[in-house]
Amino acid sequence: MASRNQIHQVIVLKSQAFGEIHRSLTLYSAEEGIIYATAHGTQKIKSKLRPFTEAFGRYKAYLYLNPVKNQYKLNDGEGLKAFHSGHESIEKFYTASLFCEMILKSFGGGTEHSQLYELIDQSLEILENMTENKRIYLLLQYLYRFLKINGFSLDLANCDSCSRKIAPEETLFYHHSQDGLFCSQCQSRFPADQLPLPPGARKYLDTTPALSLISALEISLEKNTALNLKMLLFSCIQGLLEGPLNSLKQSKEFI
Ligand SMILES: [Zn+2]
Repeated sequence: MASRNQIHQVIVLKSQAFGEIHRSLTLYSAEEGIIYATAHGTQKIKSKLRPFTEAFGRYKAYLYLNPVKNQYKLNDGEGLKAFHSGHESIEKFYTASLFCEMILKSFGGGTEHSQLYELIDQSLEILENMTENKRIYLLLQYLYRFLKINGFSLDLANCDSCSRKIAPEETLFYHHSQDGLFCSQCQSRFPADQLPLPPGARKYLDTTPALSLISALEISLEKNTALNLKMLLFSCIQGLLEGPLNSLKQSKEFI
């Protein structure tokens, strides 16, 4: 039987009002995955728990598991790293929301909690302190690493239509309606809504995942290439998660 008192390093994926003075929290932990917990009395001015109920915060949570109801209660927190920049930058707020929603929609990534936890933990830390012009690269890295951790692979070496091997200097074309990557000959059959992925974009996807997240952010792309890659990865993510992401529906222009 699980121990009643538990300590987990967590990230607040979601925080919602519950009753008049409580909050219900969706937390993410490297060991347990997603944990639903209630924080009592947090709307009271003197509540010591209040800072631990803010979305995107990361801290050591002291939890109590009620074995009868099988519910967690947050008793205390320690070592809070709050996400302050979400109040100042709407772009950062929605980016952090997207990071969290992807984890919620994937049910915490099955058994890959520790890798996924490390990814979102590092990404929130970097996002908090980064300049806006670099944010797209964090987004690309987060999206692509999330796909890989969840076992999704993108075939960048062959055409999805004729199966021809793509030469290193060729451009591939992604077609949303066909959900495929096509060579220059095949792409002319689907002229609408195509996103060209030049060799640089493919090289970027091939090489950057092996780097540390910080090092990968040093590598930049031509602006349109980065934007096309972002659209391609959004499409792959929504395919993997089998549905649209609310953060994208509400705020695509900010992300
Ligand atoms: Zn082809």
